Amino acid sequence: MTLENNTKKCFIFRFYAELNDFLPEHRKQKSFVEYFKTPITLNDVLVSLGIPFSEVDLVLVNGISVQMNHKLKENDRIAVYPKFESLDITSVTNLREKPLRDTKFILDCHLGKLAKYLRMLGFDSFYQNQIGDEEIIEIAAKEGRVILTRDKLLLKSIKITHGYFVRAITKHEQLKEVVRKFDLYKQFESFTRCMSCNEKLKTIDKASIIGRIGPDIARIFNQFYHCPNCDKIYWKGSHFKRMEGFIRELVKE
Ligand SMILES: [Zn+2]
Repeated sequence: MTLENNTKKCFIFRFYAELNDFLPEHRKQKSFVEYFKTPITLNDVLVSLGIPFSEVDLVLVNGISVQMNHKLKENDRIAVYPKFESLDITSVTNLREKPLRDTKFILDCHLGKLAKYLRMLGFDSFYQNQIGDEEIIEIAAKEGRVILTRDKLLLKSIKITHGYFVRAITKHEQLKEVVRKFDLYKQFESFTRCMSCNEKLKTIDKASIIGRIGPDIARIFNQFYHCPNCDKIYWKGSHFKRMEGFIRELVKE
């Protein structure tokens, strides 16, 4: 054992209700042990475990309510409860009526990167960086799209039938969250849609675009895809390999 391990102290955690959304599978809905170097505050451990404060309402340490700056001691039992406001939001965001048959999305202005990732997996994902709430709600209703948003207020409109508040901050985690929430695993059609504009891609002859791709790319790759809407050309280069690895990881989950 290294010196570092020796200085770490044991803490027992239990997260309740939707706070489990922020935990990895093996830690959900149960008590688990984690080790931290001391001195350490409640604030520090929640950051380290990836729990956003905005979702936390109440923390009991050994049964007693404490503040975020509370210093933890070895073997403390830490129970963390979500905000009631978030619980209300859950009922607001639960899919009402019937689920939509094709899963199509419309994303708010904070979720541009997530839109690109969903398109990468082949999902029809409407996104414009300057679009108002009213317009989002209107397009969603007209085109049968699920609204994905980081804005809880947006989802309070009674006109919304299908909406979801995305909790994760990073694009990778957001994609995982949405894929999990809507159980999209069997609907992937990766690399069939333009990541820039959402249009379906078509294969294109190398000869017809040779002047646009440069000799090196032309030498290495044979398959090319073209977006008929924004004229972008795609091929399966290193960027593709990286994304493919990430998708494989997603599917494994
Ligand atoms: Zn395009």
